[in-house]
Amino acid sequence: MTTYGAIGDVAREAKELLAELGVEASAFSNGELAAHSPITGEAMGRVSVSSAGAVKGAIGAADRAFRSWRKVPAPRRGELVRLFGEELRAAKSLLGRLVTLEAGKIASEGLGEVQEMIDICDFAVGVSRQLHGLTIATERPGHRMMETWHPLGVVGVISSFNFPVAVWAWNATLALICGDALLWKPSEKTPLTALATQALLMRAAARFGDAPEGLSSVLLGGSEVGAHLVDDERVRLVSATGSTAMGRAVAPRLAQRFARAILELGGNNAAIVCPSAPLDLATRAIAFAAMGTAGQRCTTLRRLIVHEDVYEALLDRLRSAYASARVGDPRESQTLVGPLIDEAAHAAMRATLKEARASGGAVTGGDRVLADRFPNAYYVTPALAELAEQAPVARRETFAPILFVMKYRDFEHARDMHNSVAHGLASSIFTSDLCEAERFLSSEGSDCGIANVNIGPSGAEIGGAFGGEKDSGGGREAGSDAWKAYMRRATNTINYSKDLPLAQGVRFDL
Ligand code: NAD
Repeated sequence: MTTYGAIGDVAREAKELLAELGVEASAFSNGELAAHSPITGEAMGRVSVSSAGAVKGAIGAADRAFRSWRKVPAPRRGELVRLFGEELRAAKSLLGRLVTLEAGKIASEGLGEVQEMIDICDFAVGVSRQLHGLTIATERPGHRMMETWHPLGVVGVISSFNFPVAVWAWNATLALICGDALLWKPSEKTPLTALATQALLMRAAARFGDAPEGLSSVLLGGSEVGAHLVDDERVRLVSATGSTAMGRAVAPRLAQRFARAILELGGNNAAIVCPSAPLDLATRAIAFAAMGTAGQRCTTLRRLIVHEDVYEALLDRLRSAYASARVGDPRESQTLVGPLIDEAAHAAMRATLKEARASGGAVTGGDRVLADRFPNAYYVTPALAELAEQAPVARRETFAPILFVMKYRDFEHARDMHNSVAHGLASSIFTSDLCEAERFLSSEGSDCGIANVNIGPSGAEIGGAFGGEKDSGGGREAGSDAWKAYMRRATNTINYSKDLPLAQGVRFDL
C-alpha cells in the first residue's frame, strides 16, 4: 500500500496531470476561483471566472457553430464522438486520477467515471445512425405523414461536483450527434477536470478536421455564470444537474422563455429489505450504495426500510460492514470511503446527525477522522441512524454518508414509507418473492425513475434512461430514447394526389 505524504503532493500531481492532458498552464495558474482538493484541502490551481461578456461571446460562437454543425450528416457527427471516445480511452488513467484529486473519489470510482464517458461515447456513436422518426397512417387518400427529428440549437450543461465529468458527457455526446452546439458550466468546485475534458475534446476535434469553431466551450464560475446560460434565449435547452434548490431557481426562468429543461436534481433514495431477501448480497449492495463515494451520489442509498423479522440479522451484518470499510486518502488502494467535498458538507452532516439524535435516533459512526493528518479536509466514518419511524430528518437529502434505518411490518407500510418523501430518483427492493418484486416495480409500487430488484439504487449503466420524478426533476439523460430531448420534432404531411381533402371532413369549397 502506498502512503502519500506531504500536503502539496496533490497540487503538484494535479499540475502534471493537467499538462499531460493538454491543458495550458495559463488556464489554471491565475484567477479569482481556487480549485481545492478535498483530499487535503489545498488549492491545486486558480481559474478565471467567465465574465458576462465572455458568456455572451461564447453563446454567439456556439450559435454560429450550430448553424453549420446541424448540416453535417449525423453519422459524420458521430465520428467526432468516436474520436473523443478514443481520446478518453487513451487518457483514462490520467483523467480518472484527476477526478480522484479534484472530487475525492477512490481510484476505481475515478476510473469508473471516465469509463462511463467512454460507454456513452460508444452508445452515442451507434445512436448517430438511428435518429429515426415514424411514418404515420393518414386519414386522407394520396397523402403521407411522417415525423422528422432536427437539431435543436445551443445546449447549456450545468453540472454538479460529484460527477464532475460523466454528467457532462451524458449530455454532450448526445447533443453533438444530434447536431447541437454546447456550452458547459461545470461546478465551481471542479473546474480542473472540466478543463482537461475540454482539452481532450479539442484533440478529437483537431483529428476530426472540420468541426466548427465554438462548437463546445467551457464557462467557469458559480451560479451567476450558470444564470447567464439560463437566461439567454439563444440557449434552447439547459440540462442542469445539482440540488433541488438549484432546480427550483432555474426551472421557472427557463419556463418563462419557453426553453427546454432537463433537470437532474437531488435524491432521497430508499431500499426495502423483505423477509425473503438474500441478506449477504443485500448487505454488500447496501454498503456500496450507502457508503460509496462517501455518500455523495444523487443515487446514494439514504433510507433503509427493513422487515422486522430480518431487522436484527441484517443490522448485525451491516454494522460489521460499516466497521470494516476503510475511510481515508482516496489515492490509497485499500480506501473505500474518501473525503467529503468540503467543510460545508461536513457541517450539514453534523447538523443532520444532531437532529437525528434529537428525534430519538440511535446513531453509530458519523465522526470526523484523520483531522490531525489533514486539518483542512473532512473525512468521516459513515453513519447508521436507526429511527423508530421516518422522522422529518430522514425525509430530506443530506449529501453525506448517513443511512437512516427503519422497521416495517407489511408491504403497504414499507411502500408508503418509501414513497412519502419529496424526491423520486432511485429505489431498490431486496426479496426472493417474485410477487413482492413485481409489486414494487408496478404502478402501485416505487414512484421513482429508477427501481431495482436485488441491486442497490446507485451505479446505473448508461444504456437506460437516467433520471427521477417529483423533486428529483423529471429529466431523463443517457440511454434509451433520451436523445430526443436534444432534438426538435417536426410532423410532415405530404400530398401526392391531385385533390385537396381537408382533415376531419372540413369543407372549404371556393
Ligand atoms: P449545486 O446545486 O450546489 O450545484 C450544481 C450546479 O448548479 C453548479 O454548477 C452550480 O454552480 C450551479 N447552480 C447553482 N445554482 C444555480 C442557479 N441559480 N443558476 C444556475 N446555476 C446554478 O449541487 P452540487 O452540490 O454541485 O451537487 C450535489 C447535488 O446534485 C445533490 O443534491 C445531488 O443529489 C445532485 N445531483 C443530481 C444528479 C442527478 O442526475 N439527478 C447527479 C449528480 C448530483
